[in-house]
Amino acid sequence: MPFTVAIIGRPNVGKSTLFNRLVGRKLAIVHDLPGVTRDRREGRASLMGMDFHVVDTAGFEDEGGDSIEARMRRQTDLAVGEADVALLLIDSRAGVTPLDRHFADHLRRLPTPVILVANKCEGKAGAPGLYESYGLGMGEPVPVSAEHGEGMYELFEALRPYA
Ligand code: GDP
Ligand code: MG
Repeated sequence: MPFTVAIIGRPNVGKSTLFNRLVGRKLAIVHDLPGVTRDRREGRASLMGMDFHVVDTAGFEDEGGDSIEARMRRQTDLAVGEADVALLLIDSRAGVTPLDRHFADHLRRLPTPVILVANKCEGKAGAPGLYESYGLGMGEPVPVSAEHGEGMYELFEALRPYA
């Protein structure tokens, strides 16, 4: 039985880029504008020979008509509720934002285990954000670059206990 991984985080942190890398195909739309993923995408992922089910979440677009925060929370809750483990992505180049803290505080209240993933860590520009992300209190961040495929072994190691 493959396990299920939900990719969570505020818009533009690179969730869909990571999703596409994990499924090995461009199933999710990657865009420079925040909130462009309209619906949830799901796929079969493979990482270092480990197979799992992965769910990409949008963040914004949803029919509910509530506040952005309420809509994000609903999507997050749906995806996380079905997942064995959640990846909370942050953008290391942007640093930790209030919305990242909002996600972290919310995820902390849910029973699903969370792995903090510091994306956009290629080069040196991500270092301050990576260290700042320790302050989210979500454990040690896994530095990755979804776009460049860096940190995939470390991500594999972090996910392995849930396989
Ligand atoms: P989402 O809204 O969280 O799904 O984010 P997207 O996957 O759509 O990516 C948002 C932007 O971040 C796009 O311009 C991506 O090309 C860019 N991006 C994603 N991953 C990385 C990365 O590892 N490094 C850098 N520098 N940019 C990235
Ligand atoms: Mg997206």
